[in-house]
Amino acid sequence: MSEPHNRTPQRLAIAGGGITGLTAAYYAIQQGQPGSAIDVYEGSDRLGGQIRSVWRDGKVINKGAEFIDSTHTELRAICAALNVPLLPSTDQGEQSFQRADGSIINGAEFMEAFEPVFYHIRRHREEVLQNPEGALARKLDQMSLAEYMAHMGATIPRQNPPPFFARVKKWFGMDENRVDPEILTMAMQAYVSESGRAPEEINARQFVHEVSSTNKQILESDCAYRVEGGTEKIVDALKNYLTQHGVRFHENAALARVDKQGEKLQLNFENTATPPATTDRLLLALPTYSLAKIEGLEHLGLPQGTRAKLADMQYTNSVKFTVPLKPGVKMSDGNFFSIHGYQAWSALDGQMTFLASAKDMKSPKQLIRDVLEDFARSHGQTSEKMFVLEQGSVEFSNPGKSPCYASPGKGQVNMAESFRQAFSNMAASGVSVAGSFLPLRRGNEYGIGFIEAGVVSGQQAIDQLQLVSKGRAPYLEKIIGHGSDHDRSASSARATR
Ligand SMILES: Cc1cc2nc3c(=O)[nH]c(=O)nc-3n(C[C@H](O)[C@H](O)[C@H](O)COP(=O)(O)OP(=O)(O)OC[C@H]3O[C@@H](n4cnc5c(N)ncnc54)[C@H](O)[C@@H]3O)c2cc1C
Repeated sequence: MSEPHNRTPQRLAIAGGGITGLTAAYYAIQQGQPGSAIDVYEGSDRLGGQIRSVWRDGKVINKGAEFIDSTHTELRAICAALNVPLLPSTDQGEQSFQRADGSIINGAEFMEAFEPVFYHIRRHREEVLQNPEGALARKLDQMSLAEYMAHMGATIPRQNPPPFFARVKKWFGMDENRVDPEILTMAMQAYVSESGRAPEEINARQFVHEVSSTNKQILESDCAYRVEGGTEKIVDALKNYLTQHGVRFHENAALARVDKQGEKLQLNFENTATPPATTDRLLLALPTYSLAKIEGLEHLGLPQGTRAKLADMQYTNSVKFTVPLKPGVKMSDGNFFSIHGYQAWSALDGQMTFLASAKDMKSPKQLIRDVLEDFARSHGQTSEKMFVLEQGSVEFSNPGKSPCYASPGKGQVNMAESFRQAFSNMAASGVSVAGSFLPLRRGNEYGIGFIEAGVVSGQQAIDQLQLVSKGRAPYLEKIIGHGSDHDRSASSARATR
């Protein structure tokens, strides 16, 4: 759609050059915003944020995000539109779980032992999805994963006994038929590796959301695709597209303060080499710990007291690293969950990738050593025999010293939902907020921390800004002015997603 004649286009500034900011710029252009009226301000010296791929010995290593689920439809659509090929993730293989004594049980055995509890978790999941404001949703949001699992272990028998036996068991206080506590710990630690918080901190509601709706796997995310040539190819393709449309990129331009200046917004940056800039609209596509530091937002509608809550919303202690396998080492388990809070998956091209919860980030080397040794022991090996451990062979990804992605703690899922409203109100001042910390609710899915959540929230934020823009946005012009029912329903579908 083209900008109506004789009107100067509204300038759009986007702070944050991660996937959320870049795809938001893409959507703005798709909606008729001229690229030459868009500026992307990125605080670091590179675009992509938590998405980073490197090449080593002809192999690509994704230091950050790696997988795209089959339900991540917006991201997949962008990849298709920009000719970024996706490959099926055939390297995921069989799941296996490690017990405390180091022995391994396969995914099917684990799921069978976990099934009685799983059955109830899935029921809770259904209820919470149906009634996100209900009592159960609120209760689980205030509960930790450790508390939730302890409750499940204490109340759920291994097999639901017939009522008569249930009563006899109660009279005699027999509880040996309860679900094996070790199985509960294994399930909990599988999620700890993903979340990077201690079980006492992990939000039980988020866990319930993320468990699978089928009894074949533990988590809903199916990790169905990866990007051919590395996830960063999406960033490259977006950058090309945006550059061709005239978008201007400013690197090392960390936004520090926003002020209202009449009808416009003035942006001030940390680095004085970037001069202050004015804009009509602003999208903040930043991690919440960065957002919490930007001054002036209260004048633009950010509710008082919100900063402190934002500061630790997007938090994880998980670290990811990739190690080459020695020639000839073959892995039968494609996706391994350790009771010690890490997971590992094998790639087809002779690497293992680990995602480990690291409480003590002061010693990443020690963490890597411990994890590799533990993994090798469980497979009857030593780390020296299994892995190529030479100077520089371990690719360690610590995307920033700051916490990253979104891993909600107690109370934070409901809080993130309430922020949506606050951010919508801010749009009246020409400012909107997006990021993968905002829960993405769609059908059976309720994800936080996925690329897709950032992409969809960016799309919604652009919609909000277009709606409030002074002078009607081109696509609104079409709907309000002389649009068809088709346009109207397309727009409302976007607004309710
Ligand atoms: C190890 C790891 C594995 C992951 N695996 C997956 C996966 O398999 N699948 C998946 O879907 N997701 C995965 N994720 C999550 C996914 O990468 C993120 O959700 C997504 O990339 C976040 O994008 P974003 O643009 O919202 O934020 P970010 O990528 O954090 O980008 C924000 C940008 O803002 C910049 N910035 C910060 N402060 C300022 C400021 N003041 N002014 C201007 N710019 C600023 C930052 O430098 C950064 O470039 C993973 C993340 C990590 C870390």
